[in-house]
Amino acid sequence: MRFLTYRTVDTTGLGLVAANGEIHGLASDDDYFPGELLSLLHRGGDVLTRAATTLERHGKVLDEADIAYLPPIPSPGKILCVGLNYRDHAEEAGMAIPSHANVFARFATSLVGAGQPIILPHDSDHLDYEAEFAIVIGRAGRRIEAAAALDHVAGYALFNDGSLRDVQLRTSQWVLGKNFDATGAFGPWLVTSDELPPGCRGLRLTARLNGATVQDGSTDDLLFDVPTIIQQISAVMTLEPGDVIITGTPAGVGMARRPPLWMKAGDTIEIAMEGLGRLRNEIEEE
Ligand code: MG
Repeated sequence: MRFLTYRTVDTTGLGLVAANGEIHGLASDDDYFPGELLSLLHRGGDVLTRAATTLERHGKVLDEADIAYLPPIPSPGKILCVGLNYRDHAEEAGMAIPSHANVFARFATSLVGAGQPIILPHDSDHLDYEAEFAIVIGRAGRRIEAAAALDHVAGYALFNDGSLRDVQLRTSQWVLGKNFDATGAFGPWLVTSDELPPGCRGLRLTARLNGATVQDGSTDDLLFDVPTIIQQISAVMTLEPGDVIITGTPAGVGMARRPPLWMKAGDTIEIAMEGLGRLRNEIEEE
C-alpha cells in the first residue's frame, strides 16, 4: 500500500495510490476520513489495511494538479539519520569507516514534501543532495533484537538529506547543517514493507540533478543494514510508531566532486529507488 499526506487550498488529507496510479483521497473534514498516518500508526494492528479499504471505497479520485504533497508524516516524534553508511561515500568524504552507526537528528521544520521547493538559505551556497531511503517505525520497542527488527517497521519512503556543507562541517556536530528549514525532502509516499524486499535489500538508489545521474548505488552496500540500525538505536531509546530513520547515502554527493557541485536556485533534484517511486524537488532561494 502506498499512502500520501496532502494539502489542498483549505484542508489536508490522506490518500492511497491505487494499482492503476489513481490517488484516492479523503480530506480531514470528510466523512469516513480514517485519520492521519501518524495516528493510524499509533493505533496499530491492521489499521493501515482498513484505512486503505476505506480510501478505496469512499475516497475521491484526486488530480495531482489539485494537491500539494506534504511529507507522509509531517511531524514525526523523532527523525534519526545515519551518516556515512555506505563505504564508498565515507571514503569520498574522507571520513573513517564507522564502527557503529553514526547517528544525528533532524527536526520536523527541516522537512518538505515531494514537489515542494527545497529552500536554499541566504546563509550558504553549499547546498548538497543525499539520496536515501527512510525507515518508518510501525510498532514501538526498546532493545529490539536485530532478528525481530523488521517486525517493527511499517514501511519505507524516499528521503533527500539536503545538507548545507559549510555549516555542517564547521563543527563536529552536524545537526545545524542538516536542519535548515525545508531542506529534507521526504516522500512522495509511505510504502508499506510488504511491498518491498525485507529491509529493502538489493534495490537501486539514485539521484539525478537536472536530469544527469549523480548518485547510483545499491542498498546491498549499506554498512549497517535496517535490522542493525534499529537494534543499535533502540538499545538507547524507545522507538515509537511514526519515528523516521534515514539510512545514509551512497557515493556521488556534490561536496566530493572537483570542483564541488552545489545545487542552486532553479535546479531540479530527483531521488528514486525501486518500489518507492520518485521524489522530485526544485531548489528555490529563501
Ligand atoms: Mg545523509
